[in-house]
Amino acid sequence: MACVSYPYAAPVSQTLFDRAAVVTPGGVNSPVRAFRAVGGTPRFMVSGDGPYLTDADGREYVDLVCSWGPMILGHSHPEVIGAVQAAVARGTSFGTPGEGEVELAEEIVARVGPVEQVRLVSSGTEATMSAIRLARGFTGRPKVIKFAGCYHGHVDALLAAAGSGVATFGLPDTPGVTGAQAGETVVLPYNDLEAVRAAFAAHPGEIACVITEASPGNMGVVPPLPGFNAGLKELCADNGALFISDEVMTGFRVSRSGWFGLDGVVPDLMTFGKVMGGGFPAAAFGGRADVMAQLAPAGPVYQAGTLSGNPIATAAGVAQLRLLDDAAYEKVDTASAQLRALVTEELAKAGVAHRVQNAGSMFTVFFTDEDVTDYAKAKAQQAFRFTPFFHSMLSQGVYLPPSAFESWFLSTAHDERALERVAEALPGAARAAAEATE
Ligand code: PLP
Repeated sequence: MACVSYPYAAPVSQTLFDRAAVVTPGGVNSPVRAFRAVGGTPRFMVSGDGPYLTDADGREYVDLVCSWGPMILGHSHPEVIGAVQAAVARGTSFGTPGEGEVELAEEIVARVGPVEQVRLVSSGTEATMSAIRLARGFTGRPKVIKFAGCYHGHVDALLAAAGSGVATFGLPDTPGVTGAQAGETVVLPYNDLEAVRAAFAAHPGEIACVITEASPGNMGVVPPLPGFNAGLKELCADNGALFISDEVMTGFRVSRSGWFGLDGVVPDLMTFGKVMGGGFPAAAFGGRADVMAQLAPAGPVYQAGTLSGNPIATAAGVAQLRLLDDAAYEKVDTASAQLRALVTEELAKAGVAHRVQNAGSMFTVFFTDEDVTDYAKAKAQQAFRFTPFFHSMLSQGVYLPPSAFESWFLSTAHDERALERVAEALPGAARAAAEATE
């Protein structure tokens, strides 16, 4: 794949990538950034402004990745930047409690009903890892149920059938995770309540929790079928297990209170990241007060972090969340609906089989003529059509996620001009997808 050449060059990015490859494995600090699924030169970005990114070669792109979700107000939002600058001027890390942490926690608790208490961490991976430890500590049970295609960060026990980056690389599993770590994880097909019922029956008294993406975005966007999350909640309650809803991607993005705000199913624990950090490393897990009370120093389950609740990250997160009112969500939802309609129209015109699936403003274009309801169906799409589609868009100045198994993300800054630029690029990309061969 890497040997495919595309008719446009990015010489400065290529030079940086070559330098990076000497000192960093694969030249990147997170695998999907390396463009391995689509080939070509990963773009090294130097600045962002509203809906646009500018790369090291001076080319501007309409950004439909938004840092994989966090930048819901667009890049360099003046109020977020202002809050960050004010915080930086006071110092960057104290290793003590600070008011910003209280403000961010209060904002989360106020927005998300099921979260009575919350603990701040620095990444979504840390949030899900800690939530699972807490669930095991609270229940005294070892096993975790997860779903194929759901990604919860690179937590050892959760890297089985984990979608997205893992799907992109076709790794069935990863070396470095021991049988003992993976052995406590039961991986089930998504949207299959019968399989969950059977797993509870097969492991009586052993299952600590079921963890699911509130609405998955890591096998592409595959929303839960009606009643699925409610069914999970009920099965957990009936079997003495905790229901963990991972809202790292959907939280504060698909509504002011995330996917919970759309389906109303009350989890025992929830995890957050991305939007709540305003572009900085901040994440969280929270939920029922009696469960959270088991966490150190209130309780015996240990969890900690040198930079947890960092004052810059919390200032950015608070500033961003306070700007996210109903009007902001309406704006992103409207832009997303317009873009979905445009993509559908152009792919239909070009005769390309497709499904555009959305969860609120998040959406994925699947190259298939079947609804995608689980990971097997996601993988069955004609992903080979995505590569030329992606490169056509990139060459016309539209930056898509470099994988067919990801969500596209928009922001309040994606205005008419930005959408017009995407609209202009779509016909050529749709033709490229139509002409693709395996
Ligand atoms: N959970 C979900 C649903 C995610 O989408 C991600 C990252 O994409 C994570 C957890 C891990 O978050 P992080 O990359 O901040 O570790």
